[in-house]
Amino acid sequence: MDLLKWARMKSPWICHFNTGGCNACDIEVVAVLTPRFDVERFGVLLKGSPRHADVLVVTGPVTQQSEARLKRVYEQMAEPKFVLAVGVCTCSGGVFHGCYNARGGVDTVIPVDVYIGGCPPRPSEIIDGVVHVLNKIAGGGLAEKSSVNEGQAVQ
Ligand code: SF4
Repeated sequence: MDLLKWARMKSPWICHFNTGGCNACDIEVVAVLTPRFDVERFGVLLKGSPRHADVLVVTGPVTQQSEARLKRVYEQMAEPKFVLAVGVCTCSGGVFHGCYNARGGVDTVIPVDVYIGGCPPRPSEIIDGVVHVLNKIAGGGLAEKSSVNEGQAVQ
């Protein structure tokens, strides 16, 4: 394992982006960052800029308004980059599926590495997703990810 990969596994910095959800998933993501659930034990730090992040944590369905911004945020991240889809809306559109202003799941716009179902998912499930992302980092996720609509489901 090279030094960069080892360092990335020990300190995966994340950036959180809501593409148009109801905010309940966001509350669970915030809960994961608190001392109660303490995702920082894995070295996870929330960063304000995608340029500083290794993992993009997305909540909500992709709306027409957020689609271009989501693409721009993803493009601003340096390689290797990973995407964690949190909540059924992010995975497939969920309750917003078929809405006039919703595109559907995030993987219709950017590649997703790990999917977490639930509405909203429990903090323990989000932490499980983070561990899956860490496993992808360890296994060389850059080479595995090639296109949209690929990923690994976590239930
Ligand atoms: S999955 Fe449920 S809780 Fe999360 S944004 Fe969609 S409706 Fe809200």
